[in-house]
Amino acid sequence: MSEQENASEEIVQLPDEEVADLYDNTGPLILVTGASGYIATHIVQQLQQEGYRVRGTVRSLRNESKTKPLRQLCPEAKYQLEVVEADLNVEASWLPAIKGCTYVIHTASPFPKENPKHEDEVIRPAVDGTLSVLKACHEAGSVKRVVLTSSIASIIAGNDHGNDYVYSESDWTNVVGKNVLPYYKSKTLAEKAAWDYVESLSGEQRFELAVVNPGYVLGPVLCGSFATSMEIPKRLLQHEMPMLPKLNFPVVDVRDVAKAHIKAMTVLEAAGNRHILSTCNMWVKDMALILKEEFGSQGYHVPTHNAPSPLLKVSSLFDKSIKMILPSIGEIKLMDNTRMKTTLEIQAMPVHNTFVDMCYSMIENGMIKKAKKYKAQSK
Ligand code: NAP
Repeated sequence: MSEQENASEEIVQLPDEEVADLYDNTGPLILVTGASGYIATHIVQQLQQEGYRVRGTVRSLRNESKTKPLRQLCPEAKYQLEVVEADLNVEASWLPAIKGCTYVIHTASPFPKENPKHEDEVIRPAVDGTLSVLKACHEAGSVKRVVLTSSIASIIAGNDHGNDYVYSESDWTNVVGKNVLPYYKSKTLAEKAAWDYVESLSGEQRFELAVVNPGYVLGPVLCGSFATSMEIPKRLLQHEMPMLPKLNFPVVDVRDVAKAHIKAMTVLEAAGNRHILSTCNMWVKDMALILKEEFGSQGYHVPTHNAPSPLLKVSSLFDKSIKMILPSIGEIKLMDNTRMKTTLEIQAMPVHNTFVDMCYSMIENGMIKKAKKYKAQSK
């Protein structure tokens, strides 16, 4: 009898249930920061559907409007979601949240719909909070990889490239460039701080970092509160802007964004890289036409004409969110999404479904008013 056969005789075969139990105790625990957010709820749901053990952070466990939808994301989950408190402004809150985790998906970051009074209101929590999370990962000692939700905001701003330029992961926003919004600075500085921090760790202490850089994220809503992504669909369906700003966005479906985070956590080649997430570029007018076709007959008056620039300039005097978008009027930011398709193997959903599904879910969740002729989405 060979040595190999002898060895195999000694292997104790556990019954299937016990093998499963063993895995239960040793399967990786994943922390999702800002778990009750628009994108994070999709990440948590997909992780639970894939059978992972998930812990999520919220700022306050007492805020039921955020925690209740979070706990109901996956009723059939193998493991119940664990929800803990942590705040980007409180460094000490992160180590207890991260202890025992193998992977950390860091989505939490302020994403305001208007510029704050002072840019530090978004920059400090984004940068200092990211560093607090990473330092806690280092201290915890169990973390193998961190996936950071950055944005194309850290890629596309502050440089004078024309509308034909195709942005890739090697581009960086120039934070001292003209008209760079505080939110864009916050995402750029936080992402840079993350790369620098991981680089500063010595070989054996270093964990991996993978970054995803989504464009404008749209698609169905699972969270209980309003997020900045929902602003344009709401304004379109509720006719809160009689004419459209001539704005163009690289867009991507939230379900693909969640999938991309999980791939960035598991795919070997994702470590050490940034990944642009963008399906295609769309004008607000393209979005409006999709919504008019679907919801026009249901009593929603969707505007479909672009506003002349002088009108927008006047409106920006009264509306801070118009003031914020004014420098982007007419600009096109083309994105190279090769890594999304090849490394992360995301086959993007058709954007028509993205908009339609998003608006139905916003109406059902009370984020957009129900018109009298509204008919629920046929499944
Ligand atoms: P969101 O729903 O507003 O999510 C932001 C999350 O960050 C929320 O869970 C929020 O917690 C949390 N947060 C904010 N300040 C915090 C603090 N001081 N301490 C702890 N948590 C804090 O918006 P989202 O669209 O899902 O954004 C998630 C991430 O994706 C952000 O990093 C954002 O920059 C990035 N991103 C978004 C888009 C997009 O189009 N939506 C595009 C590219 C990148 P609360 O619920 O307690 O406020």
